[in-house]
Amino acid sequence: MLSPIKKRMAKGEKSLWTNCACGKLTLRDEFEKNLFECPSCAKTHLISCKQRFNIFFDDSEYTTLEYGVPPEDPINFSDPKGKYSDRLKESRKKVGQEEAMLFATGWLNAMPVTVGSMDFSFFGASVSPSVGECFLSGVQHSINNKQPLILFVTSGGMRMHTGILSLMQMTRMTLACSELKKNKIPFIVVAGGPCLGGTTASMASLADIIISESKDFLWGFSGKRIIEQNLREKLADEVQTSQWVLEHGGLDKIVPRKELRSEIYNILSILLKVKEKEINNTSDVSSIDGSLQKTSKAV
Ligand SMILES: [Zn+2]
Repeated sequence: MLSPIKKRMAKGEKSLWTNCACGKLTLRDEFEKNLFECPSCAKTHLISCKQRFNIFFDDSEYTTLEYGVPPEDPINFSDPKGKYSDRLKESRKKVGQEEAMLFATGWLNAMPVTVGSMDFSFFGASVSPSVGECFLSGVQHSINNKQPLILFVTSGGMRMHTGILSLMQMTRMTLACSELKKNKIPFIVVAGGPCLGGTTASMASLADIIISESKDFLWGFSGKRIIEQNLREKLADEVQTSQWVLEHGGLDKIVPRKELRSEIYNILSILLKVKEKEINNTSDVSSIDGSLQKTSKAV
């Protein structure tokens, strides 16, 4: 009698292969060396915050920034899928980080930079009060250390499980972006996945330069289905893709992942010289007065 086929993969063990929607299998090592882009169809895959930091910082060296965590389940939310607090624990276990956003500091071609990244697999990278706090503290670090800020965004919008407190993050994040401008800190946003809702309507659209690393990533406010239901007409397939938004002035550039480091370094070098001149030409230079921290404590 034939013995049953034994399960080859131990629990938690990663397969040596990774698959893509095009149906091709790629060796995980090769996939990682290709910066998580499919070698067959060139699809840009979504990546975690740590994978992002590893491929973006010089020598994959960086220090993660800490931030104060506000109450996590302020309205004791629960829906048919379960309690929000339980789902939060599950997401943390699955993704291996505390929230949908992480900030770190390190070097880009020897230039010190502050970098934020979001992970779509954590509650659709929606913005909770903790994510808002993480962003504010990243901005404060960037201002305190006079480091350019680069934010890799992907987000489904605000996390409604935390009620109106999530919507309030739009104002706080917008104020934080204006502090960056006041302090003449270059701010670059890179769409590293779909970006929708309040995230696009606040911090993601307030950068000096807005880039997408794929022409296919969605960029918009309301989802396509909602617009179609309101207008009672079908939208073209390409509406809200990064390529379409670029052609309509909502994005500045599409830069493939492999060219991002050099492209961002070039942009920052230009912006920093411009900013340097601005600082020399004005006597009214804003000072860092801790106003962000005050804003942060207010909510
Ligand atoms: Zn593929």
